[in-house]
Amino acid sequence: MIEDLLLNVHRPAQYLGNEWNASKKDFSSCPVSFALGFPDLYEVGMSNLGLRIIYGIINSLPGVVCERFFAPEADMEAALKNDKRRFFSWESHQELIRFDILGFSLGSELNYTNVLSILDLAGLPLISSLRNQEYPLVIGGGPCTLNPEPMADFFDLFIIGEAEEAIVQLLNLYAKLKDDYKAARLTKVDLLIQLSKVEGVYVPSLYKLEYNSTGELIKFSPGFPTLPSKIKKRIVSDFNAAYFPCDWMVPYVQTIHDRITLEIMRGCPNRCRFCQARSQYYPLRIRSKEKIVKLADLAYAASGYEELSLAGLSVGDYPEIETLVSDLTNRFSQQAVNLSLPSLKAKALLGNVSTLIAKTKKTGLTFAPEAGTQRLRQVLAKDFSEEEFFQAIAQAYQAGYQHLKLYFLIGLPDERPEDLQGIIDFAQGASEAKRKINGSAAQINISINPLIPKPHTPLQWQKMETIAAIQEKQSYLRSHCKNRRLKFNFHNFQMGFLEGVLSRGDRFLGKVILGAYKKGARFDAWSDYFSFTKWMEAFAESGIDPQKYLDEKPVSVLLPWDFIDTGVDKEYLIEEFNKTIAR
Ligand code: SF4
Repeated sequence: MIEDLLLNVHRPAQYLGNEWNASKKDFSSCPVSFALGFPDLYEVGMSNLGLRIIYGIINSLPGVVCERFFAPEADMEAALKNDKRRFFSWESHQELIRFDILGFSLGSELNYTNVLSILDLAGLPLISSLRNQEYPLVIGGGPCTLNPEPMADFFDLFIIGEAEEAIVQLLNLYAKLKDDYKAARLTKVDLLIQLSKVEGVYVPSLYKLEYNSTGELIKFSPGFPTLPSKIKKRIVSDFNAAYFPCDWMVPYVQTIHDRITLEIMRGCPNRCRFCQARSQYYPLRIRSKEKIVKLADLAYAASGYEELSLAGLSVGDYPEIETLVSDLTNRFSQQAVNLSLPSLKAKALLGNVSTLIAKTKKTGLTFAPEAGTQRLRQVLAKDFSEEEFFQAIAQAYQAGYQHLKLYFLIGLPDERPEDLQGIIDFAQGASEAKRKINGSAAQINISINPLIPKPHTPLQWQKMETIAAIQEKQSYLRSHCKNRRLKFNFHNFQMGFLEGVLSRGDRFLGKVILGAYKKGARFDAWSDYFSFTKWMEAFAESGIDPQKYLDEKPVSVLLPWDFIDTGVDKEYLIEEFNKTIAR
Protein backbone atom coordinates (compact mmCIF):
# COMPACT_ATOMS: atom_id res chain seq x y z
CA MET A 1 0.00 0.00 0.00
CA ILE A 2 1.39 3.37 -0.94
CA GLU A 3 -1.66 5.61 -0.37
CA ASP A 4 -0.23 7.21 2.76
CA LEU A 5 2.90 8.18 0.83
CA LEU A 6 0.87 9.98 -1.79
CA LEU A 7 -0.66 12.60 0.45
CA ASN A 8 2.32 14.90 0.49
CA VAL A 9 4.03 14.41 -2.85
CA HIS A 10 3.91 16.35 -6.09
CA ARG A 11 1.61 14.87 -8.77
CA PRO A 12 0.68 11.77 -6.74
CA ALA A 13 -1.32 10.33 -9.65
CA GLN A 14 1.94 9.56 -11.43
CA TYR A 15 2.61 6.77 -8.90
CA LEU A 16 -0.80 5.11 -9.06
CA GLY A 17 -0.34 2.67 -11.97
CA ASN A 18 -3.53 0.91 -12.99
CA GLU A 19 -3.83 3.08 -16.10
CA TRP A 20 -6.18 2.18 -18.92
CA ASN A 21 -4.67 -0.88 -20.69
CA ALA A 22 -2.02 -1.48 -18.01
CA SER A 23 -1.26 -5.15 -17.39
CA LYS A 24 -3.32 -6.89 -14.70
CA LYS A 25 -1.14 -10.01 -14.47
CA ASP A 26 -0.94 -11.55 -11.02
CA PHE A 27 2.52 -11.10 -9.52
CA SER A 28 2.44 -14.02 -7.12
CA SER A 29 1.24 -16.63 -9.59
CA CYS A 30 3.97 -16.01 -12.19
CA PRO A 31 7.19 -18.00 -11.77
CA VAL A 32 9.32 -15.19 -13.20
CA SER A 33 8.93 -11.51 -12.38
CA PHE A 34 10.49 -8.60 -14.24
CA ALA A 35 10.41 -4.95 -13.20
CA LEU A 36 10.96 -2.64 -16.15
CA GLY A 37 12.16 0.83 -15.32
CA PHE A 38 12.85 4.15 -16.88
CA PRO A 39 15.23 6.22 -14.74
CA ASP A 40 13.47 9.52 -15.30
CA LEU A 41 10.09 10.95 -14.36
CA TYR A 42 6.91 9.01 -15.22
CA GLU A 43 5.92 11.70 -17.74
CA VAL A 44 9.12 11.07 -19.69
CA GLY A 45 9.17 7.29 -19.33
CA MET A 46 5.58 6.85 -20.47
CA SER A 47 6.45 8.83 -23.61
CA ASN A 48 9.05 6.23 -24.53
CA LEU A 49 7.90 3.79 -27.17
CA GLY A 50 10.66 1.27 -26.42
CA LEU A 51 9.45 0.90 -22.84
CA ARG A 52 5.88 0.23 -23.98
CA ILE A 53 7.10 -2.36 -26.51
CA ILE A 54 9.22 -4.32 -24.03
CA TYR A 55 6.46 -4.13 -21.40
CA GLY A 56 3.93 -5.60 -23.84
CA ILE A 57 6.29 -8.31 -25.09
CA ILE A 58 7.23 -9.53 -21.61
CA ASN A 59 3.65 -9.54 -20.39
CA SER A 60 2.67 -11.63 -23.43
CA LEU A 61 4.96 -14.42 -22.18
CA PRO A 62 3.20 -17.11 -20.15
CA GLY A 63 4.51 -17.39 -16.61
CA VAL A 64 6.28 -14.00 -16.66
CA VAL A 65 4.93 -10.80 -15.14
CA CYS A 66 6.29 -7.38 -16.01
CA GLU A 67 5.59 -4.31 -13.89
CA ARG A 68 6.96 -0.78 -14.34
CA PHE A 69 8.87 1.72 -12.27
CA PHE A 70 10.08 5.26 -12.88
CA ALA A 71 12.36 7.64 -10.99
CA PRO A 72 10.69 9.10 -7.91
CA GLU A 73 10.69 12.86 -7.51
CA ALA A 74 12.73 14.32 -4.64
CA ASP A 75 9.70 14.48 -2.30
CA MET A 76 8.85 10.80 -2.86
CA GLU A 77 12.51 9.85 -2.36
CA ALA A 78 12.51 11.74 0.94
CA ALA A 79 9.17 10.18 2.01
CA LEU A 80 10.46 6.67 1.35
CA LYS A 81 13.64 7.35 3.29
CA ASN A 82 11.80 8.96 6.22
CA ASP A 83 9.45 6.01 6.51
CA LYS A 84 12.23 3.48 5.87
CA ARG A 85 10.16 2.07 3.05
CA ARG A 86 11.42 0.41 -0.10
CA PHE A 87 10.75 1.57 -3.63
CA PHE A 88 7.97 -0.19 -5.46
CA SER A 89 6.55 -1.15 -8.84
CA TRP A 90 3.65 0.73 -10.41
CA GLU A 91 1.23 -2.15 -11.12
CA SER A 92 0.93 -3.99 -7.82
CA HIS A 93 3.18 -1.77 -5.71
CA GLN A 94 5.49 -4.69 -4.94
CA GLU A 95 8.85 -3.84 -3.48
CA LEU A 96 11.33 -3.92 -6.38
CA ILE A 97 13.64 -6.15 -4.35
CA ARG A 98 11.07 -8.97 -4.68
CA PHE A 99 11.43 -9.18 -8.46
CA ASP A 100 13.76 -11.63 -10.22
CA ILE A 101 15.09 -9.03 -12.59
CA LEU A 102 15.19 -5.23 -12.66
CA GLY A 103 15.58 -3.96 -16.20
CA PHE A 104 16.52 -0.34 -16.87
CA SER A 105 15.95 1.40 -20.16
CA LEU A 106 19.01 3.65 -20.51
CA GLY A 107 18.07 6.47 -22.82
CA SER A 108 20.38 9.21 -21.57
CA GLU A 109 23.70 9.29 -19.75
CA LEU A 110 22.23 12.10 -17.66
CA ASN A 111 19.94 9.56 -15.99
CA TYR A 112 22.78 7.46 -14.55
CA THR A 113 22.56 8.87 -11.03
CA ASN A 114 18.81 8.13 -11.04
CA VAL A 115 19.63 4.45 -11.65
CA LEU A 116 21.70 4.45 -8.47
CA SER A 117 19.01 6.30 -6.56
CA ILE A 118 16.41 3.70 -7.57
CA LEU A 119 18.67 0.75 -6.67
CA ASP A 120 19.39 2.36 -3.32
CA LEU A 121 15.74 3.07 -2.57
CA ALA A 122 14.88 -0.49 -3.57
CA GLY A 123 17.33 -1.81 -0.95
CA LEU A 124 19.89 -3.28 -3.38
CA PRO A 125 23.67 -2.94 -3.04
CA LEU A 126 24.74 -0.61 -5.84
CA ILE A 127 27.77 -2.59 -6.99
CA SER A 128 26.87 -5.72 -8.96
CA SER A 129 29.55 -7.91 -7.31
CA LEU A 130 27.92 -7.24 -3.91
CA ARG A 131 24.56 -8.63 -5.01
CA ASN A 132 24.17 -12.37 -4.49
CA GLN A 133 21.28 -14.76 -5.27
CA GLU A 134 19.02 -13.01 -2.79
CA TYR A 135 18.86 -9.93 -4.96
CA PRO A 136 17.33 -9.35 -8.37
CA LEU A 137 19.60 -9.34 -11.39
CA VAL A 138 20.06 -5.80 -12.67
CA ILE A 139 20.10 -5.48 -16.43
CA GLY A 140 20.23 -2.55 -18.85
CA GLY A 141 19.22 -1.88 -22.42
CA GLY A 142 18.55 1.08 -24.68
CA PRO A 143 20.64 3.64 -26.59
CA CYS A 144 23.29 4.19 -23.88
CA THR A 145 24.41 0.57 -24.16
CA LEU A 146 26.35 1.56 -27.28
CA ASN A 147 28.94 2.35 -24.62
CA PRO A 148 27.84 0.78 -21.34
CA GLU A 149 31.33 0.88 -19.75
CA PRO A 150 30.80 3.82 -17.34
CA MET A 151 27.91 1.84 -15.76
CA ALA A 152 29.72 -1.54 -15.83
CA ASP A 153 30.19 -1.66 -12.02
CA PHE A 154 26.47 -1.44 -11.32
CA PHE A 155 24.88 -3.76 -13.87
CA ASP A 156 24.96 -7.55 -14.06
CA LEU A 157 24.42 -7.54 -17.80
CA PHE A 158 23.40 -5.39 -20.72
CA ILE A 159 21.42 -6.21 -23.82
CA ILE A 160 23.13 -4.40 -26.69
CA GLY A 161 20.83 -3.20 -29.45
CA GLU A 162 17.15 -3.91 -29.98
CA ALA A 163 15.88 -5.99 -27.08
CA GLU A 164 12.56 -7.31 -28.45
CA GLU A 165 13.82 -10.79 -29.31
CA ALA A 166 16.80 -10.98 -26.93
CA ILE A 167 14.66 -10.32 -23.84
CA VAL A 168 12.39 -13.27 -24.66
CA GLN A 169 15.39 -15.60 -25.10
CA LEU A 170 16.95 -14.27 -21.90
CA LEU A 171 13.78 -14.76 -19.87
CA ASN A 172 13.18 -18.26 -21.24
CA LEU A 173 16.71 -19.21 -20.25
CA TYR A 174 16.41 -17.54 -16.85
CA ALA A 175 13.15 -19.42 -16.19
CA LYS A 176 14.98 -22.72 -16.69
CA LEU A 177 17.91 -21.74 -14.46
CA LYS A 178 16.06 -19.81 -11.75
CA ASP A 179 15.44 -22.65 -9.30
CA ASP A 180 19.06 -23.78 -9.35
CA TYR A 181 20.27 -20.19 -9.03
CA LYS A 182 17.99 -19.27 -6.15
CA ALA A 183 18.86 -22.52 -4.34
CA ALA A 184 22.58 -21.71 -4.79
CA ARG A 185 23.16 -24.81 -6.89
CA LEU A 186 24.28 -22.42 -9.62
CA THR A 187 26.63 -19.57 -8.79
CA LYS A 188 25.96 -16.07 -10.05
CA VAL A 189 29.01 -16.29 -12.32
CA ASP A 190 27.71 -19.55 -13.83
CA LEU A 191 24.26 -18.05 -14.30
CA LEU A 192 25.78 -15.04 -16.07
CA ILE A 193 27.94 -17.26 -18.27
CA GLN A 194 24.79 -19.14 -19.32
CA LEU A 195 22.86 -15.94 -19.98
CA SER A 196 25.74 -14.51 -22.02
CA LYS A 197 25.02 -17.21 -24.62
CA VAL A 198 22.07 -15.12 -25.77
CA GLU A 199 23.37 -13.06 -28.67
CA GLY A 200 23.68 -9.37 -27.76
CA VAL A 201 24.07 -10.04 -24.03
CA TYR A 202 27.16 -8.43 -22.51
CA VAL A 203 28.26 -9.29 -18.97
CA PRO A 204 30.94 -6.72 -18.04
CA SER A 205 32.25 -8.67 -15.04
CA LEU A 206 33.22 -11.60 -17.28
CA TYR A 207 35.71 -9.58 -19.35
CA LYS A 208 39.32 -8.69 -18.59
CA LEU A 209 40.62 -5.21 -19.29
CA GLU A 210 44.24 -4.13 -19.41
CA TYR A 211 45.52 -0.56 -19.35
CA ASN A 212 48.89 1.08 -20.01
CA SER A 213 50.71 3.33 -17.56
CA THR A 214 48.66 6.38 -18.61
CA GLY A 215 45.37 4.59 -18.03
CA GLU A 216 44.58 3.94 -21.71
CA LEU A 217 42.81 0.70 -22.52
CA ILE A 218 45.15 -1.63 -24.40
CA LYS A 219 43.36 -4.99 -24.20
CA PHE A 220 39.78 -6.16 -23.83
CA SER A 221 39.29 -9.90 -23.72
CA PRO A 222 36.75 -12.49 -22.57
CA GLY A 223 37.47 -14.08 -19.18
CA PHE A 224 35.93 -17.42 -20.22
CA PRO A 225 36.34 -19.38 -23.45
CA THR A 226 32.62 -19.53 -24.28
CA LEU A 227 32.27 -15.74 -24.35
CA PRO A 228 32.37 -13.80 -27.60
CA SER A 229 35.23 -11.31 -27.98
CA LYS A 230 32.84 -8.90 -29.71
CA ILE A 231 29.22 -8.35 -28.79
CA LYS A 232 26.98 -8.19 -31.81
CA LYS A 233 24.22 -5.63 -31.52
CA ARG A 234 20.78 -7.22 -31.75
CA ILE A 235 18.31 -6.18 -34.40
CA VAL A 236 14.73 -7.24 -34.89
CA SER A 237 14.80 -9.63 -37.83
CA ASP A 238 11.35 -8.84 -39.26
CA PHE A 239 10.45 -5.28 -38.38
CA ASN A 240 7.18 -5.35 -40.32
CA ALA A 241 5.98 -8.21 -38.16
CA ALA A 242 7.54 -6.84 -34.96
CA TYR A 243 5.36 -6.36 -31.90
CA PHE A 244 3.61 -3.02 -31.50
CA PRO A 245 1.70 -2.16 -28.29
CA CYS A 246 -1.77 -1.76 -29.83
CA ASP A 247 -3.30 -1.90 -26.33
CA TRP A 248 -1.95 1.60 -25.90
CA MET A 249 -1.80 2.60 -22.22
CA VAL A 250 -3.44 5.90 -21.30
CA PRO A 251 -1.76 7.66 -18.35
CA TYR A 252 -3.78 9.56 -15.72
CA VAL A 253 -1.40 12.49 -15.81
CA GLN A 254 -0.19 14.44 -18.78
CA THR A 255 3.00 13.03 -20.26
CA ILE A 256 5.60 14.76 -22.48
CA HIS A 257 4.26 13.04 -25.59
CA ASP A 258 0.62 12.46 -24.75
CA ARG A 259 -0.39 10.57 -27.89
CA ILE A 260 -0.06 7.37 -29.87
CA THR A 261 3.41 7.01 -31.33
CA LEU A 262 3.54 4.87 -34.46
CA GLU A 263 6.98 3.73 -35.50
CA ILE A 264 6.93 3.61 -39.29
CA MET A 265 10.58 2.81 -39.93
CA ARG A 266 13.70 1.85 -38.05
CA GLY A 267 17.15 2.94 -39.15
CA CYS A 268 18.02 5.79 -41.48
CA PRO A 269 19.09 5.85 -45.14
CA ASN A 270 21.24 8.95 -44.55
CA ARG A 271 24.82 9.00 -43.33
CA CYS A 272 25.26 12.14 -41.28
CA ARG A 273 28.71 11.83 -39.77
CA PHE A 274 27.75 13.09 -36.30
CA CYS A 275 24.77 10.80 -35.87
CA GLN A 276 24.86 7.96 -33.35
CA ALA A 277 21.24 6.95 -33.94
CA ARG A 278 22.19 5.74 -37.40
CA SER A 279 24.57 3.11 -35.95
CA GLN A 280 22.16 2.38 -33.12
CA TYR A 281 19.28 1.46 -35.43
CA TYR A 282 21.24 0.28 -38.48
CA PRO A 283 20.13 -1.21 -40.89
CA LEU A 284 17.15 0.57 -42.39
CA ARG A 285 13.84 -1.27 -42.12
CA ILE A 286 10.44 -0.12 -43.27
CA ARG A 287 6.97 -0.97 -41.93
CA SER A 288 4.40 -1.39 -44.69
CA LYS A 289 1.77 1.29 -45.16
CA GLU A 290 -1.05 -1.25 -44.75
CA LYS A 291 0.44 -2.46 -41.48
CA ILE A 292 0.85 1.08 -40.15
CA VAL A 293 -2.77 1.97 -40.92
CA LYS A 294 -3.93 -1.26 -39.24
CA LEU A 295 -1.85 -0.56 -36.12
CA ALA A 296 -3.15 3.01 -36.01
CA ASP A 297 -6.73 1.72 -36.13
CA LEU A 298 -6.12 -0.74 -33.32
CA ALA A 299 -4.26 1.69 -31.07
CA TYR A 300 -6.91 4.37 -31.60
CA ALA A 301 -9.73 1.93 -30.86
CA ALA A 302 -7.95 0.79 -27.68
CA SER A 303 -7.11 4.25 -26.37
CA GLY A 304 -9.27 6.96 -27.95
CA TYR A 305 -6.24 9.25 -28.24
CA GLU A 306 -6.75 12.41 -30.29
CA GLU A 307 -3.21 12.62 -31.56
CA LEU A 308 -1.17 10.22 -33.60
CA SER A 309 2.50 10.80 -34.23
CA LEU A 310 4.59 9.07 -36.89
CA ALA A 311 7.97 8.13 -35.50
CA GLY A 312 11.27 7.14 -37.05
CA LEU A 313 14.73 8.62 -37.43
CA SER A 314 14.01 10.34 -40.73
CA VAL A 315 10.30 10.04 -41.36
CA GLY A 316 10.58 12.15 -44.51
CA ASP A 317 12.52 9.31 -46.11
CA TYR A 318 9.65 6.86 -45.70
CA PRO A 319 9.13 5.65 -49.28
CA GLU A 320 5.38 6.36 -49.44
CA ILE A 321 5.17 9.22 -46.98
CA GLU A 322 2.68 11.22 -49.02
CA THR A 323 0.18 8.39 -49.48
CA LEU A 324 0.67 7.28 -45.87
CA VAL A 325 -0.11 10.75 -44.54
CA SER A 326 -3.04 11.03 -46.95
CA ASP A 327 -4.47 7.63 -45.90
CA LEU A 328 -4.14 8.39 -42.20
CA THR A 329 -5.53 11.91 -42.57
CA ASN A 330 -8.56 10.69 -44.49
CA ARG A 331 -9.14 7.87 -42.05
CA PHE A 332 -8.97 9.92 -38.86
CA SER A 333 -10.17 13.40 -39.85
CA GLN A 334 -13.78 12.48 -38.97
CA GLN A 335 -12.73 11.63 -35.41
CA ALA A 336 -10.70 14.87 -35.23
CA VAL A 337 -7.50 12.94 -34.60
CA ASN A 338 -4.42 15.07 -35.30
CA LEU A 339 -1.45 13.70 -37.12
CA SER A 340 2.00 14.97 -36.17
CA LEU A 341 5.41 14.34 -37.66
CA PRO A 342 8.86 14.87 -36.15
CA SER A 343 11.64 16.80 -37.88
CA LEU A 344 11.15 16.55 -41.63
CA LYS A 345 13.15 16.71 -44.77
CA ALA A 346 12.15 19.52 -47.09
CA LYS A 347 11.93 16.98 -49.91
CA ALA A 348 9.14 15.20 -48.12
CA LEU A 349 7.10 18.37 -47.92
CA LEU A 350 7.36 19.17 -51.56
CA GLY A 351 4.53 16.82 -52.38
CA ASN A 352 1.26 17.37 -50.68
CA VAL A 353 2.33 16.47 -47.19
CA SER A 354 2.33 19.89 -45.54
CA THR A 355 -1.15 20.62 -46.91
CA LEU A 356 -2.42 17.28 -45.66
CA ILE A 357 -1.05 17.72 -42.17
CA ALA A 358 -2.26 21.31 -42.02
CA LYS A 359 -5.78 20.02 -42.64
CA THR A 360 -5.83 18.62 -39.15
CA LYS A 361 -3.29 20.62 -37.18
CA LYS A 362 -1.38 23.79 -37.97
CA THR A 363 1.42 23.39 -35.50
CA GLY A 364 4.94 24.41 -36.32
CA LEU A 365 7.19 22.41 -38.58
CA THR A 366 10.61 21.24 -37.49
CA PHE A 367 13.74 20.99 -39.64
CA ALA A 368 17.32 20.13 -38.81
CA PRO A 369 19.75 21.91 -41.13
CA GLU A 370 22.39 21.29 -38.39
CA ALA A 371 24.91 23.79 -39.84
CA GLY A 372 24.55 27.35 -41.09
CA THR A 373 26.43 26.95 -44.35
CA GLN A 374 26.41 24.44 -47.17
CA ARG A 375 30.18 23.95 -46.79
CA LEU A 376 29.80 22.82 -43.18
CA ARG A 377 26.76 20.68 -43.97
CA GLN A 378 28.99 18.88 -46.46
CA VAL A 379 31.57 18.27 -43.72
CA LEU A 380 28.78 16.61 -41.74
CA ALA A 381 27.49 14.77 -44.85
CA LYS A 382 24.10 16.30 -44.09
CA ASP A 383 21.72 15.79 -46.99
CA PHE A 384 19.95 19.15 -46.87
CA SER A 385 19.17 21.35 -49.84
CA GLU A 386 18.50 25.06 -49.18
CA GLU A 387 16.60 25.34 -52.42
CA GLU A 388 14.22 22.53 -51.46
CA PHE A 389 13.91 23.91 -47.96
CA PHE A 390 12.80 27.38 -49.11
CA GLN A 391 10.36 25.89 -51.64
CA ALA A 392 8.93 23.62 -48.98
CA ILE A 393 8.47 26.31 -46.34
CA ALA A 394 6.79 28.58 -48.91
CA GLN A 395 4.24 25.78 -49.43
CA ALA A 396 3.92 25.28 -45.70
CA TYR A 397 3.26 29.00 -45.06
CA GLN A 398 0.67 28.93 -47.83
CA ALA A 399 -0.97 25.94 -46.13
CA GLY A 400 -1.31 27.97 -42.93
CA TYR A 401 1.80 27.23 -40.87
CA GLN A 402 2.81 30.13 -38.67
CA HIS A 403 6.22 29.25 -37.30
CA LEU A 404 9.19 26.92 -37.69
CA LYS A 405 11.65 25.23 -35.43
CA LEU A 406 15.24 24.78 -36.62
CA TYR A 407 17.95 22.63 -35.07
CA PHE A 408 21.63 23.55 -35.35
CA LEU A 409 24.85 22.18 -33.90
CA ILE A 410 27.86 24.24 -32.85
CA GLY A 411 31.38 23.10 -32.06
CA LEU A 412 31.60 21.31 -35.41
CA PRO A 413 34.83 20.23 -37.08
CA ASP A 414 36.29 23.05 -39.18
CA GLU A 415 33.67 25.52 -37.95
CA ARG A 416 34.44 29.15 -38.86
CA PRO A 417 32.88 32.50 -37.86
CA GLU A 418 30.99 32.62 -41.19
CA ASP A 419 29.29 29.34 -40.26
CA LEU A 420 27.91 30.92 -37.09
CA GLN A 421 26.77 33.96 -39.02
CA GLY A 422 25.26 31.47 -41.50
CA ILE A 423 22.93 30.19 -38.77
CA ILE A 424 21.55 33.69 -38.21
CA ASP A 425 21.25 34.42 -41.92
CA PHE A 426 19.56 31.11 -42.62
CA ALA A 427 16.99 31.57 -39.85
CA GLN A 428 16.37 35.15 -40.94
CA GLY A 429 15.71 33.97 -44.50
CA ALA A 430 13.25 31.38 -43.19
CA SER A 431 11.44 34.05 -41.22
CA GLU A 432 11.27 36.54 -44.11
CA ALA A 433 10.04 33.86 -46.54
CA LYS A 434 6.63 34.12 -44.88
CA ARG A 435 6.41 37.86 -45.55
CA LYS A 436 6.35 37.14 -49.28
CA ILE A 437 3.37 34.83 -48.78
CA ASN A 438 1.15 36.80 -46.42
CA GLY A 439 2.89 40.03 -45.49
CA SER A 440 4.32 39.17 -42.06
CA ALA A 441 7.54 37.45 -41.06
CA ALA A 442 7.42 34.11 -39.20
CA GLN A 443 8.69 33.38 -35.73
CA ILE A 444 11.60 30.97 -35.87
CA ASN A 445 12.63 28.98 -32.82
CA ILE A 446 16.27 28.01 -33.10
CA SER A 447 17.65 25.23 -30.97
CA ILE A 448 21.44 25.30 -30.60
CA ASN A 449 23.20 22.22 -29.27
CA PRO A 450 26.89 21.55 -28.83
CA LEU A 451 28.17 18.67 -30.95
CA ILE A 452 28.94 15.63 -28.82
CA PRO A 453 31.16 13.38 -30.94
CA LYS A 454 29.60 10.10 -29.87
CA PRO A 455 30.77 6.49 -30.00
CA HIS A 456 30.14 4.51 -33.19
CA THR A 457 30.03 7.64 -35.37
CA PRO A 458 32.71 8.83 -37.81
CA LEU A 459 33.37 11.72 -35.40
CA GLN A 460 34.13 9.46 -32.43
CA TRP A 461 37.84 10.37 -32.67
CA GLN A 462 37.10 14.08 -32.92
CA LYS A 463 37.59 16.32 -29.86
CA MET A 464 34.56 17.87 -28.25
CA GLU A 465 34.69 21.65 -28.06
CA THR A 466 35.64 23.04 -24.63
CA ILE A 467 33.05 24.74 -22.44
CA ALA A 468 34.82 28.10 -22.96
CA ALA A 469 34.69 27.78 -26.77
CA ILE A 470 31.01 26.77 -26.73
CA GLN A 471 30.22 29.75 -24.48
CA GLU A 472 32.03 32.04 -26.90
CA LYS A 473 30.02 30.72 -29.84
CA GLN A 474 26.76 31.08 -27.95
CA SER A 475 27.70 34.70 -27.14
CA TYR A 476 28.45 35.36 -30.81
CA LEU A 477 24.97 34.17 -31.80
CA ARG A 478 23.31 36.17 -29.02
CA SER A 479 25.12 39.38 -29.78
CA HIS A 480 24.96 39.24 -33.58
CA CYS A 481 21.29 38.48 -33.92
CA LYS A 482 19.10 41.56 -33.67
CA ASN A 483 15.97 40.07 -35.22
CA ARG A 484 13.33 39.68 -32.48
CA ARG A 485 11.47 37.03 -34.44
CA LEU A 486 14.41 34.66 -34.06
CA LYS A 487 14.28 32.98 -30.65
CA PHE A 488 17.41 31.13 -29.63
CA ASN A 489 17.29 28.25 -27.22
CA PHE A 490 20.76 27.20 -26.09
CA HIS A 491 21.36 23.75 -24.67
CA ASN A 492 23.06 23.91 -21.27
CA PHE A 493 26.77 23.66 -22.11
CA GLN A 494 27.67 22.07 -18.77
CA MET A 495 25.13 19.30 -19.29
CA GLY A 496 26.53 18.86 -22.82
CA PHE A 497 30.03 18.57 -21.36
CA LEU A 498 28.92 15.92 -18.85
CA GLU A 499 26.99 13.99 -21.49
CA GLY A 500 30.10 14.06 -23.68
CA VAL A 501 32.30 12.66 -20.89
CA LEU A 502 29.84 9.94 -19.84
CA SER A 503 29.06 8.85 -23.40
CA ARG A 504 32.77 8.58 -24.32
CA GLY A 505 33.82 7.22 -20.95
CA ASP A 506 35.30 4.01 -19.60
CA ARG A 507 34.93 1.90 -16.46
CA PHE A 508 36.92 4.38 -14.35
CA LEU A 509 33.90 6.67 -14.46
CA GLY A 510 31.90 4.28 -12.25
CA LYS A 511 33.46 5.80 -9.14
CA VAL A 512 32.71 9.33 -10.39
CA ILE A 513 29.04 8.46 -11.01
CA LEU A 514 28.86 6.89 -7.55
CA GLY A 515 30.57 9.92 -6.03
CA ALA A 516 28.20 12.36 -7.73
CA TYR A 517 25.20 10.26 -6.62
CA LYS A 518 26.42 10.29 -3.01
CA LYS A 519 26.73 14.06 -3.19
CA GLY A 520 23.08 14.25 -4.15
CA ALA A 521 23.22 14.43 -7.97
CA ARG A 522 19.85 13.37 -9.46
CA PHE A 523 17.88 14.17 -12.61
CA ASP A 524 20.97 15.57 -14.30
CA ALA A 525 19.01 16.13 -17.51
CA TRP A 526 16.75 18.65 -15.73
CA SER A 527 18.18 22.14 -15.31
CA ASP A 528 16.23 22.64 -12.05
CA TYR A 529 18.12 19.74 -10.49
CA PHE A 530 21.44 19.67 -12.35
CA SER A 531 24.48 20.58 -10.27
CA PHE A 532 27.71 20.88 -12.23
CA THR A 533 29.54 21.58 -8.98
CA LYS A 534 28.64 18.18 -7.51
CA TRP A 535 29.97 16.46 -10.61
CA MET A 536 33.19 18.47 -10.69
CA GLU A 537 33.78 17.64 -7.02
CA ALA A 538 33.20 13.96 -7.76
CA PHE A 539 35.71 14.06 -10.62
CA ALA A 540 38.27 15.83 -8.43
CA GLU A 541 37.83 13.37 -5.53
CA SER A 542 38.23 10.43 -7.90
CA GLY A 543 41.42 11.91 -9.34
CA ILE A 544 39.95 11.87 -12.85
CA ASP A 545 40.27 14.71 -15.33
CA PRO A 546 37.01 14.73 -17.32
CA GLN A 547 38.61 16.67 -20.16
CA LYS A 548 40.71 13.68 -21.20
CA TYR A 549 37.55 11.92 -22.41
CA LEU A 550 36.80 14.82 -24.74
CA ASP A 551 40.20 15.17 -26.36
CA GLU A 552 40.91 14.08 -29.92
CA LYS A 553 42.01 10.44 -30.23
CA PRO A 554 44.18 8.74 -32.83
CA VAL A 555 42.23 6.15 -34.85
CA SER A 556 44.78 3.52 -33.78
CA VAL A 557 43.74 3.48 -30.08
CA LEU A 558 41.43 0.87 -28.59
CA LEU A 559 38.24 2.67 -27.64
CA PRO A 560 36.24 1.50 -24.59
CA TRP A 561 33.26 0.65 -26.84
CA ASP A 562 35.20 -1.08 -29.64
CA PHE A 563 33.99 -4.49 -28.46
CA ILE A 564 30.49 -3.68 -29.73
CA ASP A 565 29.71 -4.60 -33.31
CA THR A 566 26.87 -2.37 -34.50
CA GLY A 567 27.02 -3.70 -38.06
CA VAL A 568 28.63 -0.44 -39.21
CA ASP A 569 32.19 -1.22 -40.22
CA LYS A 570 35.06 0.51 -38.36
CA GLU A 571 36.97 0.96 -41.64
CA TYR A 572 33.98 2.87 -42.98
CA LEU A 573 33.93 5.10 -39.88
CA ILE A 574 37.65 5.85 -40.32
CA GLU A 575 37.16 6.68 -44.00
CA GLU A 576 34.33 9.05 -43.17
CA PHE A 577 36.28 10.63 -40.30
CA ASN A 578 39.20 11.30 -42.66
CA LYS A 579 36.84 13.16 -44.97
CA THR A 580 36.00 15.58 -42.17
CA ILE A 581 39.64 16.52 -41.61
CA ALA A 582 40.81 16.54 -45.23
CA ARG A 583 39.01 19.78 -46.08
S1 SF4 B 1 20.92 12.88 -38.32
FE1 SF4 B 1 18.91 12.23 -38.93
S2 SF4 B 1 19.02 12.09 -41.15
FE2 SF4 B 1 21.12 12.12 -40.43
S3 SF4 B 1 21.70 9.96 -40.22
FE3 SF4 B 1 20.92 10.66 -38.23
S4 SF4 B 1 18.80 10.12 -38.21
FE4 SF4 B 1 19.48 10.06 -40.32
